[in-house]
Amino acid sequence: MIISMKLHATRAEIDAVCARIREFGYKVHSIEGEERVVIGAVGVGDVTACLESLEAMPQVEKAMRISAPYKFVSREFRHQKTRVRANGVEIGGDEFTVMAGPCSVESEQQILTTARFVREHGAAFLRGGAFKPRTSPYDFQGMELDGLKLLRKAQQETGIGIITEVMSDSDVEMVAEYADILQIGARNMQNFALLKALGKTSRPVMLKRGLSSTVKELLMSAEYVVAHGNPNVILCERGIRTFETATRNTCDLTAIAVLNELTHLPVMLDPSHATGKRSLVPPLARAGVAIGADGLIVEVHPQPEKAFSDGAQSLTFPQFAAMIEDLEPYIRLWSTARAAELVTV
Ligand code: PEP
Ligand code: MN
Repeated sequence: MIISMKLHATRAEIDAVCARIREFGYKVHSIEGEERVVIGAVGVGDVTACLESLEAMPQVEKAMRISAPYKFVSREFRHQKTRVRANGVEIGGDEFTVMAGPCSVESEQQILTTARFVREHGAAFLRGGAFKPRTSPYDFQGMELDGLKLLRKAQQETGIGIITEVMSDSDVEMVAEYADILQIGARNMQNFALLKALGKTSRPVMLKRGLSSTVKELLMSAEYVVAHGNPNVILCERGIRTFETATRNTCDLTAIAVLNELTHLPVMLDPSHATGKRSLVPPLARAGVAIGADGLIVEVHPQPEKAFSDGAQSLTFPQFAAMIEDLEPYIRLWSTARAAELVTV
């Protein structure tokens, strides 16, 4: 069940509702927004009796039953799409969002030239890992704090938003000082200590789907972050592992449409990791726009052949510019479709 309190309910009123829920045998998780508190009740009990009792309490705005195992992130809980604000940009709203940049931050020159170029070509966010989750311990592990400082420099110069990966719960506070959006990599989607720590920050989080994770598991991971206090979560499809070897991963494009039915959270597509091959990035990006993703996160490098990581899937600057130009008519259709959706909601 989800219980939405009236605006500006007092602490005593919230505590009274929580106590009543516990009397029915449920566990309580609350998310406290600036104006409104929403309480999630989980467990086994007499749902109907509990709902009736709560609805009779004057401080309760609405109490409803939610059948999915994830509550706060489900469309049943909130029909309207969540808009996540970062660096003055809304993700999940009426603008298609492009995030672009290298796989890893490698040098001042590399990140600054990329920031300028992608900014000029419509990217609202610069991506670039300072902490890299590499399959081999012998591969480049990232510039760490120095990389974060270079991202900040790129932001100061261009005004672009920053999205960068955080790999460990102990780094959340530090990375949150430099990033507008905290990226959680596929390999960390079920790092529960990390997810709990992300709940404690107010920075938006972009959660990438795990290599072998189901849509439900992705939503349960998002639920962790929200249930621990941070409602600003963005999801990202980046391909999953299958028997197919023609591409680095298999893009589960349908998952974007499925997620749009199941959750109100914004959903991004990463066509770079989904394919592993730069020639396949623009066609997949087009499909992502058509299926209703809220945006794209794409790898771009000034010299992909010299990239420290993921060079084969990184677009060159001219290729990125051409892709954005090619996407324009599709994004116009996307905007029309989104405006119609907003009206029906
Ligand atoms: C990345 O974005 O560079 C990355 C490591 O992605 P993923 O976690 O999806 O593999
Ligand atoms: Mn990468």
